[in-house]
Amino acid sequence: MKSSWSSLPIAWQDAFGLAVDSYLRRDAAPIGAVVTDGAGTIVSRGGNAISSHRLAHAEMEAFAGVPATLDRRAARLFVTVEPCPMCAGALRMMQLGNVHFAARDPAAGATRLLQDDGFMREIRCAVHAPRIPALEQVVVALVIEHRMRKGHTRWQPAWEAYQPVAFSFGRLWPPRALMRSGGMGRSALRRSTNPPFRSASAPGASPSRRVMVGCPANPFPDPWSYV
Ligand SMILES: [Zn+2]
Repeated sequence: MKSSWSSLPIAWQDAFGLAVDSYLRRDAAPIGAVVTDGAGTIVSRGGNAISSHRLAHAEMEAFAGVPATLDRRAARLFVTVEPCPMCAGALRMMQLGNVHFAARDPAAGATRLLQDDGFMREIRCAVHAPRIPALEQVVVALVIEHRMRKGHTRWQPAWEAYQPVAFSFGRLWPPRALMRSGGMGRSALRRSTNPPFRSASAPGASPSRRVMVGCPANPFPDPWSYV
């Protein structure tokens, strides 16, 4: 697969943009979600906003904006982190045909519930596990940085076992601080294989806002070198 940010499907670019926006602007876990129709057009978006309400998960915001006319069986949810039990239940009630997540959540991830019993299986929602290693590891590193900074260490061993390199990166390297300072962006610009990140066009977001994502020379691999 081509090694560049631009090679990522636009749905992933948008979902990740929403995740970074939540991570930086709302100081929330980096979770963003978009719903596309069967043709791949984004029809709804959501970002993690649990700092304002405990149930304001990215998927819930995206579900709330889904048009009534959407062909739900052909629709797809793209979310940066595997849905929790609440969002898996909401996915069932929305009757969407597909869910893709960029990274697993070894603690709260609950897409297994979509196979739990006859009621949950009824919608035959196809679960698409992570398939883009660079995106998966960047998401995990940001999740870990956020969790460690907030003192959420209870599930640390599970995250470390899942993605040890990204775990170490998130624990030891301050990606959030570098993002805020522009350090990650400057590094990205120095490396032609790391194109600038386009901020998601979320409702209310400033169109001029730009967040640059890259990866400086360090033990963590270039996020797009093996996408
Ligand atoms: Zn959730």
